[in-house]
Amino acid sequence: MTKILNRPKETSLMSNYNRSNLAFVRGKGVRLFDKTGKMFLDLGAGIAVNSLGHSHPKLVKVLADQGSKLWHTSNLYTVPKQEELANVLTDNTFADKVFFTNSGAESVECAIKVARRFYFSKGQSNRNRIISFEGSFHGRTMGTISAAGSRKLLEGFGPKLPGFDTVRKLSLESVEKKISERTCAILVEPILGEGGIVTLPCSFLKGLKKLCKKYNLLLIFDEVQSGIGRTGYFLAHENCEVTPDIVALAKGLGNGFPIGACLATKRVAACMVPGTHGSTYGGNPLGCAVALETIKCILKPNFLTTIRRKGDFFKEKLNNLQTMFPQQILEVRGKGLMLGLKCVSNNIDLVEKCRKENLLLVPGGSNTLRILPPLIIKYKEIEEGAERLQKVLSQMGK
Ligand SMILES: *Cc1c(COP(=O)(O)O)cnc(C)c1O
Repeated sequence: MTKILNRPKETSLMSNYNRSNLAFVRGKGVRLFDKTGKMFLDLGAGIAVNSLGHSHPKLVKVLADQGSKLWHTSNLYTVPKQEELANVLTDNTFADKVFFTNSGAESVECAIKVARRFYFSKGQSNRNRIISFEGSFHGRTMGTISAAGSRKLLEGFGPKLPGFDTVRKLSLESVEKKISERTCAILVEPILGEGGIVTLPCSFLKGLKKLCKKYNLLLIFDEVQSGIGRTGYFLAHENCEVTPDIVALAKGLGNGFPIGACLATKRVAACMVPGTHGSTYGGNPLGCAVALETIKCILKPNFLTTIRRKGDFFKEKLNNLQTMFPQQILEVRGKGLMLGLKCVSNNIDLVEKCRKENLLLVPGGSNTLRILPPLIIKYKEIEEGAERLQKVLSQMGK
């Protein structure tokens, strides 16, 4: 049936997003272009996704090649690219086993299921509660909003799923107090992303590991945002020499092609016997081909070291801005190219003002601005970003 429309149609999209009118038609490296040809400096990378920037020639080629051969066969069959990608992930991390998903939330869901199933397989099905942290973000499924426990995420979507104990303070004593004989795991982001780029000290992560050993719990890191090179380490926790049991990945893994992964050790993953979990699209040839090429680029010699250097360079620029505008910037946060500014003025207004200067940033929790540029950003592009930010801050006044 065709509806005859003689007046401007209201959007057919659900209004769950606070969208800008900006619409991009093309991207190249760290630049995005709208249809009038106006060029933007993208320091958000689609929320920490386009790690190798827009239209990376190698990724464009890999996707086109795979697209002309085979898109999808399902997990009824062996998917060679999936095996290859899983090998690269296990060769370069703590993990021995991988399950592929299509998003971050699904990767965290898988982590939750693996943790519970692990104790079930040991005959301890009562051990199913997971400790998580206030201010975290793990995705938007019922399981992941229940895990994060924030009122804002849960409002109107109750009942909240049981089985999560949320710790209010990032303190080891508070965590230990929450542990019971029913606890199976601790779930945490090594660097809180949506929560406003809060870097957990290595001593805290090590303390969590100690508690896990003491009470026989599994340690789950949600590295959906911090993983795949973002902090200058392949996975952010590697900087702290703490070994988790399970890690959730997505965002940077596919550079914009939807793919996620749940990594685990052999000991833990052994509980995932045939029939326990699945995904129609998870690990399809297109996603795996793109992710494989993305990781190969990120693991090239010196690439990660360069991210750390660029991160230090960017942080120095941001520290300078804080010195210049102490009434506007309260704190510079983050590691590598996962950076944040705790602001005084409303962060959403700041993002809007930056857009007017053709600079794209991402707002974060606790009134922060998140700076998550493509990892291929050049030093002079970092300078350019800092200059534009300076211009916006100077308009706000000291
Ligand atoms: C973005 C994010 C998620 C959710 O990823 P989706 O792909 O949107 O489901 C989960 N955890 C963290 C830490 C994230 O940053």
